[in-house]
Amino acid sequence: MSQLKYCQGPKCHTYDTKDRKRGPKDNKRNETRRRSNFSYLNGNACSMTCQADWFDVYGSRALQHFGYLTQPRVLTKDNAWVNRRNWSHNTNTSDTFYAYNYLTEERRPITEQQYNDDTNLDGQGQLTI
Ligand SMILES: [Zn+2]
Repeated sequence: MSQLKYCQGPKCHTYDTKDRKRGPKDNKRNETRRRSNFSYLNGNACSMTCQADWFDVYGSRALQHFGYLTQPRVLTKDNAWVNRRNWSHNTNTSDTFYAYNYLTEERRPITEQQYNDDTNLDGQGQLTI
């Protein structure tokens, strides 16, 4: 059985739903949701509302911690590569795979394996081959 974890939404316990209720009749309370997995905040919040609550409280602190952009990030022809597939409707020809440059519109053939695993790209849009 997987480990249960708490929703990280700072106001989760304030939303009045049946599944948050705990305790005997004379001492009722609402608690933060606890599950094995959540669908928001990378698996750490039970709802979009709790995710937004987390961001309202911690978002700017996270930016301070990890650092603000102080100059624009730039897309140039050197980091404008993505892998694409040409879906052929002709059953006599095989699908072709290629790296495509957004800025120059250049196409370079790649293998199906490279298309599937992106080993020809560095994760930042630059070719490694
Ligand atoms: Zn929650």
